[in-house]
Amino acid sequence: MRSRPFWCALGLALLAITLQAQSMELSKTVEEFVRVRGARIVLAHVRIIDGTGAAAVEDQNVILAGGKITGVQKGSDVAASAGTTVLDLRGYTVIPGIVGMHNHLFYIVRPNLDAGRHFDNPVLIPQMTFSSPRLYLAAGVTTMRTTGSVETYADLNLKHDIDAGKLPGPHIDVTGPYLEGSQSYFMQMPHIATPEEARQNVEYWADRGVTSFKAYMNITRAELKAAIDAAHKRGLKVTGHLCSVTYKEAAELGIDDLEHGFFANTQLDSDKQPDICSAGAGEETLAHMEPDGAEAKELIATLVQHHVAITSTLPVFEGNAGSGRPPVRQEALDAMTPQAREDYFLLRQRPGSARAPKIDPALLWKHDLALERAFVTAGGLLLSGPDPTGRGDVLPGFGDQRGIELLVEAGFTPSEAIRIATLNGATYLGREKEIGSIAAGKNADLVVIKGDPSKQIPEIENVEIVFKDGVGYDSGKLLHSVRSRYGQY
Ligand SMILES: [Zn+2]
Repeated sequence: MRSRPFWCALGLALLAITLQAQSMELSKTVEEFVRVRGARIVLAHVRIIDGTGAAAVEDQNVILAGGKITGVQKGSDVAASAGTTVLDLRGYTVIPGIVGMHNHLFYIVRPNLDAGRHFDNPVLIPQMTFSSPRLYLAAGVTTMRTTGSVETYADLNLKHDIDAGKLPGPHIDVTGPYLEGSQSYFMQMPHIATPEEARQNVEYWADRGVTSFKAYMNITRAELKAAIDAAHKRGLKVTGHLCSVTYKEAAELGIDDLEHGFFANTQLDSDKQPDICSAGAGEETLAHMEPDGAEAKELIATLVQHHVAITSTLPVFEGNAGSGRPPVRQEALDAMTPQAREDYFLLRQRPGSARAPKIDPALLWKHDLALERAFVTAGGLLLSGPDPTGRGDVLPGFGDQRGIELLVEAGFTPSEAIRIATLNGATYLGREKEIGSIAAGKNADLVVIKGDPSKQIPEIENVEIVFKDGVGYDSGKLLHSVRSRYGQY
């Protein structure tokens, strides 16, 4: 049984949709979660971390109207009136809505999972069309990319219903079905056997509204090239959780983004054959790649030169990062179904019979964090997403917040980490003029947080209100609506 693929369970035309949120009718289901709505809303006396990486600014007023940010001014007392709603937010911080760039809408099920961590095949991947969008929005995610889909029609229709005000959730960039090769472990992915099939797959799903693609671990270089060319012809981007193709090869083929930081690069794996995934799927490469060594420098230069973004997915690797990790959040446990919770505890066990890993996972963690920092220092565009798929306690939304905390562990300042999770994602999506930072004229996508994450990054978890297109949603109510009595689907 290979356990390797589970750290990524499987794995632009984003038109500027002007939602005119103030006039758009919301369904009863969505209205239930609305906490603040009005023609003009003033967030008074608030601390701003604006998403550009700049330091926090104290005591500001942010004015929202017509679904947009219409002003950012020095803090002052404003009287509420018939047309103006005022929230006194002394002691609060506002950040831009999170742009989650590895945000799945599914969760793995392992049949007959037992205390020895054994389970049977086939592993399946059920949808979480109900709970994921609520958890993402509750945590402050206002835009997200699915980064690989298994129920693509469900994801496309979900996006439509959210944009139409029928269901709660973030704006979604729907990624097509995984572009996976013929050796795939996962039954729900297409098993592409020729470049022509790769091209057909991209064109079929682009015709149906998919706005990005993701290549997977067993695709060949020729298939990947065909997919990239077909997607680029449509103005769409391709990312990859790779193994059979190395980072350098993919960059030279024109890929736009690579998932999982530097964990999935296989160029130095001793058993690596062209077009075939190596047994360690990149562990050897990461262990050997000294962050300030010549190989790392050359790789990073190649990625930057080819404008390849990297998506950091630290939460999904944190379970292997060594001791001293915080306990799972109670709210995350509460959001799991009884079965998901039981699986989490079973998978956390380390049976005495288990072999020690050949490569120290703490070394991989250390190298990856340093490489992500070096990539940004060299001018690379780093994105962030949690990869919530049933590994560890990584759940939608909670994982997005944890990712920001772990970027701070990697050495970024809180403001820089927030930029990676907001403006950088917007920039990659080509939407940086509308979303990703706090400035007059941008969409009113904002997260209201109690406390000061610029000083204490864990306070980013204290989300109270999430504005999307100028409508303020109640984070607690959204979270409560997916408590396990409803099931994690
Ligand atoms: Zn993934």
